[in-house]
Amino acid sequence: MPKIVGIDLGTTNSVVAVMEGQEPTVISLAEGSRLCPSVVGFSRSGETLVGQPARRQALAAPERTVSSIKRRMGTDYRVQMDGRVFTPQDISAMILCKLRADAEAYLGERVEKAVITVPAYFTDAQRQATKDAGAIAGLEVVRIINEPTAAVLAYGVERDTAQTVLLWDLGGGTFDVTILDIGEGVFEVRATCGDSLLGGDDWDARLMEWMAAQFEAMHTQNLRRDPLAMQRLKESAEKAKIELSNLLTTNVNLPFLSVGQNGPLHLDIDLSRAQMEHLCADLLEKLIAPTRQALADARLDPSDLDRVLLVGGATRMPAVQELVRRMFGKEPYRGLNPDEAVAVGAALQGAVLNREIEGLLLLDVTPLSLGIETHGGAVSRIIERNTPIPTQGKQVFTTSRDGQTTVNIRVFQGEHLQAADNHFLADFKLTDIPSDLGGIAQIEVTFDIDANGIVHVSALEQRTGQRRQVQIGLATGLTSEEIARQRGLIANETPLK
Ligand code: AMP
Repeated sequence: MPKIVGIDLGTTNSVVAVMEGQEPTVISLAEGSRLCPSVVGFSRSGETLVGQPARRQALAAPERTVSSIKRRMGTDYRVQMDGRVFTPQDISAMILCKLRADAEAYLGERVEKAVITVPAYFTDAQRQATKDAGAIAGLEVVRIINEPTAAVLAYGVERDTAQTVLLWDLGGGTFDVTILDIGEGVFEVRATCGDSLLGGDDWDARLMEWMAAQFEAMHTQNLRRDPLAMQRLKESAEKAKIELSNLLTTNVNLPFLSVGQNGPLHLDIDLSRAQMEHLCADLLEKLIAPTRQALADARLDPSDLDRVLLVGGATRMPAVQELVRRMFGKEPYRGLNPDEAVAVGAALQGAVLNREIEGLLLLDVTPLSLGIETHGGAVSRIIERNTPIPTQGKQVFTTSRDGQTTVNIRVFQGEHLQAADNHFLADFKLTDIPSDLGGIAQIEVTFDIDANGIVHVSALEQRTGQRRQVQIGLATGLTSEEIARQRGLIANETPLK
C-alpha cells in the first residue's frame, strides 16, 4: 500500500517522516540532514532553491530569499520575484515539493498522500491555505492535524498509564499550548490555546534590534535600511540566542558590517544570557495567558497535570524551562526530540489512516469559536472553542424586510465579542429566498468543522425544504482552478534544488 508521509511544515524548519513497519522514521534529506530549513530562494540564474541552499543564499541575496512564510499563511501577502507573483501557498508548496521528492528518493516509490501538521491555533484560512499548498505540491492532504497533538502522539504511543499532560510548542513563529488525556491508545484533547504570532523569530528580532542600536550608539550609523547588514545581524542574533541556551555569555563579532568616513566598521560585543532574558522578558510573559486560558477551559489546576512536555526548538531556552518550574512546580519533560516529534506524530496518524496501525484514536478540538455577525456588529456564537471535532452547529436565519430575497451572512472565528476584532472567515449570500413578508423565511444554516478543523457551510430553506445556494467567499482560500494553475507552474519550475 502506498505510504502516507507525515510532514511538519514548520516556520523555521520542516521535517518529513514515515512509518516503516511499526517504527516511525524521520527521513534524511538529499543534503544529509533531517531538518529542511523552510526557506525558498530564487537565484539570479532562474533556479529555485529550497532548504539548505536557499538558507545559504540568504546571506548573499536576502532580497531574493523567502523565509518564515508560514507566518503569512492565510493572508493576502504576496512574494514578487522577477516579475512573478507567489502566494504564501505557492512558497510553502515549493518546500513540500522538496520534502516529497526526498521522501520518494528514500522510499523508492511515489508519494501522493500526506498528513500535514499546523499549529493548533491556526484559523480556518490558515488551515485551508496549508491544504492548498499540499495540493499545489501534488499531495493529497489526507488529514491536517495539530502540531501539539502530533507531538503527544509521538510521546504517548508506547505508554500504557493513563495521564493528563500539558504541552508547550514554541517554534520559530508560533506558540501552542494543549492539554490532553492519554489512555489506552486514546488521545483526547481537552483544551488548546496559543498565539499564532509568537515564536523564536521574535527573540531574534529583539536581539537584532538591540545589536543595531548598539552599532548606532558606537558608530552613529543606522543599519536598519541596509538589508545585507540586517541579514547578517539576523543570522548572528539567532546564533547568539541558541548559544545562550548553553552558555552564560556569548560574543557577537561581525567584521565589516558597514563603512564609515574612516573606513570599515565592525560590531564586536558581548551578550549575556541575563541581558537577553531582560531584553525579551515581555516575550516570555506572553506564554502565560494562553496557558492559563487552556487550564481554565479544561477546568484543571496546574497540580492536576502529570507532565508538562516541551517541543519546538525555542523551548530549549533555559528561561522557558524555568517558567515551567515557576508555573507548574514541575520539571519539564524533555524526552521528546523537539525538532522531530511533530513529524513523527504526523507519520503515526498517516499510518492510522492507512490502517497500518490499529487501536490509536485521536480526538481533537477546534481551537477557536465560530460565530456570525449580528446587528450592531456583535458576534453570535455557533460553535464554542474546544468543542471536539468533527462537529456541527446550526442557526436559523430569517429576513428583516418584506420582499427580501437575499440575506448576507458574515462568519468570524475567534473569542472577541465584537465581530471586527475576530478573524473574518467568509461571507455567504443566501439567495433565491422566496419573496414574502419580513421574518417569515426560515433558513437553517449549518456549519460543519471537519476532522481537519476546516469549516464547511450549507443552508436549508425550511418551508420549502430546498437547499439554498450558498456563495462562500473564503477570506484567502484559492479556487481549484488557481491551485491547478499554480501546480502546473511549480511543477514546471527549473528543478528544485
Ligand atoms: P522549530 O520551528 O520547532 O524548528 O523551532 C525553531 C526555533 O527554535 C527557531 O527560532 C530557532 O532559533 C529556535 N531554536 C532552535 N534551537 C534552539 C536552542 N538551542 N536554543 C534556543 N532556541 C533554539
